Amino acid sequence: MTMYTKPLPDPTIETKPFWDYCKKHELRMQKCAQCGHIRFPPGIVCPKCHSMEAEWVKLSGKGKIFSFVIFHYVYNKAFKDDVPYASASIELDEGPRMMSNIIGCKLEDIKINMPVEVHFEDITGEFALPKFKPELKNRGKNLKPTAEV
Ligand SMILES: [Zn+2]
Repeated sequence: MTMYTKPLPDPTIETKPFWDYCKKHELRMQKCAQCGHIRFPPGIVCPKCHSMEAEWVKLSGKGKIFSFVIFHYVYNKAFKDDVPYASASIELDEGPRMMSNIIGCKLEDIKINMPVEVHFEDITGEFALPKFKPELKNRGKNLKPTAEV
């Protein structure tokens, strides 16, 4: 593994389980034990019912692109070799949205509503980043949105 020189996650008490599961290549989020709401980012209290009881459930890792942007400008020198790259809001099948990068396809093939699945990148011995690729069945094909926007 080459030296990773980009900013690293900075886990808090609330987010450490998320990163620990990522290291195991599992996408897990808190599911409220009271109302079933799956919340992200992690927190102490359910934003829907204020319960403090939750369990870390394993998600499918599948979702669709809710929105995205292609970065051409280098806002942080650590990413100078990556431009242009795609940052996206991924709407997971279980409901929550999370920010990540879209990888594994040409930037011009990225579309709103494109089905994607998680792919973990081991960046250090301590961290793996959840990124998203087009769903396997769509990779390399003429990618089209699956629903009207
Ligand atoms: Zn709740």
